[in-house]
Amino acid sequence: MAASGTDQARVCFATLLTTDSYMHGALTLAASLRATGTHHEIICLVADGQLSRSALERLARAFDRLVTVPLLNTNDASSLALLGRPDLGSTVTKIGVWALTDYERVAFLDADTLVLASIDSLLCLDLPSELAPGDVHVGRDFRANGGMLNEGLLAAAPDLGWPDCFNSGVFVAKPSDATHSGLLSLLATQGSFDGGDQGLLNAYFADWSRADHTRRLPFAYNTTSTSFYTYAPAFAHFSSAIKVVHFIGAHKPWKWHRALDGSLLLGCTAATPYDSNASPFAVFVEKWWNVHDEYVSLWSPDKGDFNADVALSLSEQYASADVLQPSTTPQTVLLPSSHAMDDAWKRAGTDYSNVEARTTDNDGWSEFMPASDFALSPSTSGPSSSHASSVQLHRNAD
Ligand code: UDP
Ligand code: MN
Repeated sequence: MAASGTDQARVCFATLLTTDSYMHGALTLAASLRATGTHHEIICLVADGQLSRSALERLARAFDRLVTVPLLNTNDASSLALLGRPDLGSTVTKIGVWALTDYERVAFLDADTLVLASIDSLLCLDLPSELAPGDVHVGRDFRANGGMLNEGLLAAAPDLGWPDCFNSGVFVAKPSDATHSGLLSLLATQGSFDGGDQGLLNAYFADWSRADHTRRLPFAYNTTSTSFYTYAPAFAHFSSAIKVVHFIGAHKPWKWHRALDGSLLLGCTAATPYDSNASPFAVFVEKWWNVHDEYVSLWSPDKGDFNADVALSLSEQYASADVLQPSTTPQTVLLPSSHAMDDAWKRAGTDYSNVEARTTDNDGWSEFMPASDFALSPSTSGPSSSHASSVQLHRNAD
């Protein structure tokens, strides 16, 4: 699948997984990249000893290569509390990107990104002298300047929260042992000002916003989910140019609740930051699920592609199911019987419903349950059918 010949520099797309819980993000990202028709290698950095065997097996089918990297952690509870993301201490594992010295250039994407259009230009090494408007032009001035800049970071887009910082969810890196050990020693001596990878990387590549304009990627290469709220007219004006959507924050697309027909239950969860149908960003969450359903959930292990037979049987099976309406009061939702569900799992690798009601650990999916939001209990009332068993879905008291 990779297109790197012997006389060509080696380049790749890469993402990172430190936990099983982001696996569907990584698989969906890989599928969205492949859908652009790229011929470049797509690799996944996996934190040593952190992922389940079944996750590694699925990842190995979706990526061209898995690279094990040592798990790092800032263990900086107070900075992470300020960031509001106590879970992000281990994202500094991302600096393993700079240890990939068998690549000359790596375009890194967080596992919570979705690619909507070709981004091969990020890996283009032979840069044309003239570029069409909107094209990315990574690193030319840097080369012309004779390498005066820290060459480890070739390009990144600004962070909306503090635009003099870059958002570390999408960037182009030039791996080198010197940069890698420099990052490790900064981590050991000063830590990260936000407790995650972004603070560390911005401290290390502190000249990013000033030294060379070619290192500033257009925002379309890392459109973060909050942009609609901070600048809605710009979002509307430029939205057709968006190439990469980045679902920042704790509420990832795979945590959205869905009806049994696959439609998103906007506003259903207490945690959702989106305002029902009013949010255009919900459209991107829907796109994420479309890619997931088409290429990931129905991936046949044998064929490695979409399995139409399974899709048909699942949609028939769920056709008569009721839809859960957004509400704060207890609702009844129909789930396929556990037998039908297990059957579907065996055939399709996952189920369609994502009602987050599963209690068994199958392929890591149960780890995606936002257990703090909802609890399930058997119901004595409510509709039932031969394909469905009835459960009550209600919010936990806390
Ligand atoms: N990550 C992971 N497991 C985790 C947290 C993070 O694999 O539990 C990886 C994943 O690639 C993720 C990246 O680290 O996309 C950065 O974390 P996240 O995207 O949640 O940060 P945000 O973009 O929301 O600031
Ligand atoms: Mn992210």
